[in-house]
Amino acid sequence: MNEICKEKKLIVNGVRSDNRKPDELRKIDIKANVLKRADGSAYIEWGENKVIVGVYGPREAYPKHIQQPNKAIVNCKYNMASFSVLERKRPGPDRRSVEISKIISEVFEYAIFTEEFPRTTIDIFIEVLEADAGTRCAGITAASVALADAGIPMKDLVPACAVGKVDGTIVLDLYKEEDNLGEADMPIAILPRTKDVLLLQMDGNFTFDEFEKAFHIGIDACMKIYEMQTNALKKEYTDIVS
Ligand code: ADP
Repeated sequence: MNEICKEKKLIVNGVRSDNRKPDELRKIDIKANVLKRADGSAYIEWGENKVIVGVYGPREAYPKHIQQPNKAIVNCKYNMASFSVLERKRPGPDRRSVEISKIISEVFEYAIFTEEFPRTTIDIFIEVLEADAGTRCAGITAASVALADAGIPMKDLVPACAVGKVDGTIVLDLYKEEDNLGEADMPIAILPRTKDVLLLQMDGNFTFDEFEKAFHIGIDACMKIYEMQTNALKKEYTDIVS
């Protein structure tokens, strides 16, 4: 089986196995304000990924001893539903979800003006309903729309996207098969206004030149996703504002 997989060509004549060009994103749809009982929410369909995010807070941190006197605590919980992948995933937290929750909490600790809400927590729940690689990027992208929907002040929205290497070619936004069989995968999240990099992880290897190329393709993609995020918010709120 592995031998067959290794033989399989994922890029033929510059076209990927899902008919995309190397620097082409999957289709992305974002909707803000999808949960009535959350303070802010968003739903994203990104290729075959389906992710919903609920934001609660800022609310008083409890128990009191965890309160920070000068800022809010940002607490993200990323969860992949057991039915989100082909072979049922064991429910509940695992090493991967704990890691992803931590890095996303750190992204938003930086993006949110936490000092405006001392002694509170801002809770971000990311629920992956269907997964096809790139769920942490989809989660971050939707979470920043949900935070904006909750009216939580941030330095900017945070778009995220992965870039990788498949058959020696730099490709944007890997789907599951490319993620499994490719040579590298690098999720990136940025603050568009300042171009600060809030997340950069890497699985696999790039040469320095490949890294530079991949990084720039990733940043360009983040800027496109940023436009989709702002459009999702405008779509939801233009009528209300006018
Ligand atoms: P990301 O979803 O951010 O790309 P990974 O690279 O860790 O994160 O995972 C890639 C993909 O592998 C996931 O989107 C999902 O489709 C699949 N996957 C991850 N964990 C599991 C699991 N425990 N069981 C089955 N599939 C999984």
